[in-house]
Amino acid sequence: MISKNNFDFVVIGGGIVGFSTAVKIQKSGKSVLVLEKEKTPGFHQSGRNSGVIHSGIYYKPNSFKSQLSIKGRELLIEFLNAKNIPFRLEGKLVVDNNIQKIEDLLKRSKDLNMEGVKILRNKELLEKEPNSIINNALFVPQAGVVNYRKVTEALAEEFVSLGGKINYFEEIISIDTVEGRKILNTKKSKFQGDYLINCGGLYSDKLAIMDGLEPNVRIIPFRGEYYTFDKSKSNLVNNMIYPIADPNLPFLGIHLTKTIDGNIEAGPNAVFAFAKEGYKWTNINFKETFNSLTYIGMLNLGKKYFKTGISEMYRSLNKKAFVKEVNKLIPGITIKDLQPRGAGVRAQAVDKDGNLVDDFLFQEGLSSLHVLNAPSPAATACLAIGEHIANKVNK
Ligand SMILES: Cc1cc2nc3c(=O)[nH]c(=O)nc-3n(C[C@H](O)[C@H](O)[C@H](O)COP(=O)(O)OP(=O)(O)OC[C@H]3O[C@@H](n4cnc5c(N)ncnc54)[C@H](O)[C@@H]3O)c2cc1C
Repeated sequence: MISKNNFDFVVIGGGIVGFSTAVKIQKSGKSVLVLEKEKTPGFHQSGRNSGVIHSGIYYKPNSFKSQLSIKGRELLIEFLNAKNIPFRLEGKLVVDNNIQKIEDLLKRSKDLNMEGVKILRNKELLEKEPNSIINNALFVPQAGVVNYRKVTEALAEEFVSLGGKINYFEEIISIDTVEGRKILNTKKSKFQGDYLINCGGLYSDKLAIMDGLEPNVRIIPFRGEYYTFDKSKSNLVNNMIYPIADPNLPFLGIHLTKTIDGNIEAGPNAVFAFAKEGYKWTNINFKETFNSLTYIGMLNLGKKYFKTGISEMYRSLNKKAFVKEVNKLIPGITIKDLQPRGAGVRAQAVDKDGNLVDDFLFQEGLSSLHVLNAPSPAATACLAIGEHIANKVNK
């Protein structure tokens, strides 16, 4: 059955990026429909992440990530205040034994006009995190924590209050373009819009192909697993402790975060998942795994990062190795102090040469725009990404 209405815009994906975009466009007076295959907002990446409000310090200057995360953080904090969503903004410690790396980040913070970023040593450091075994750290006051599932739900509510329409349980299985208009086919119905915006996260590559594009990237799923500290140890960390990330990888490495609920979480690692929505080792989708493993970009990626991939898998299967990593930041944590928490799966675009695409990636089609890479910090940046897309498509 074809839906009676023709919408100005149809957004695929009820995650944080889809709803931020839908709100922004709906506010400009256009009619917007969001189609989501699950039953609630933020069911995948937007509801299964670290919950960190990133400062923006890590990202290459002038990249989308840098610009949109700094602007997005400001917009997000305004939104959280307006909607009374709890958040804490107490800053984080970025640590490394190599002081040069910390000084380089400090310099970048100055280039980005970030105030209050400073190097802490000994006493000052122990005042912030008395239980850590760190010698040097960069204190970044702009970072914080929030529950992004709640943010996504609040965006969905705002969208509906503005007159927007959401249809859950609608999985797009094919897309037709008829006289410039988009017909979106699901198992149950057909929906129609003048313009399509694909915010399909882990399936954004597949949706772009359905729309007739030949994207230069494929989405490879990387599971991020976490452990929560036992309650008796949750006073050992006050805020966030992050090792400096490997600049060649878009993942931030295992870090410690005091979540908005007061739990201490360690993680996430980055393990190749055997299904796009493979939240456990036992979730296997043979077709998706076959497609990932036979993609030329994945073969090239495997050649470059074979050792890293194996050590991430080893750490995933061997809790002792994970604990060892945690003990580099906080001593005295044992295997029984860590309980597994639900994992998340990152939608990471990989190009044909095997590069993990670092920046956010948007590709336009005929009456369509596809978000082909929106990994971390896209939750922090969501409102700025929504604004960026709305400005582009409203033209
Ligand atoms: C482990 C992990 C930790 C992270 N930590 C942070 C962090 O601390 N801070 C931060 O800023 N960012 C973080 N991120 C990144 C952040 O969570 C994502 O960048 C963000 O949630 C992406 O939002 P999205 O809307 O693009 O994707 P999603 O939330 O995945 O939404 C995509 C939606 O599209 C729907 N969909 C897909 N295919 C179809 C179809 N065919 N038909 C209909 N619907 C479809 C899906 O069901 C899904 O709901 C983390 C991510 C992960 C995985």
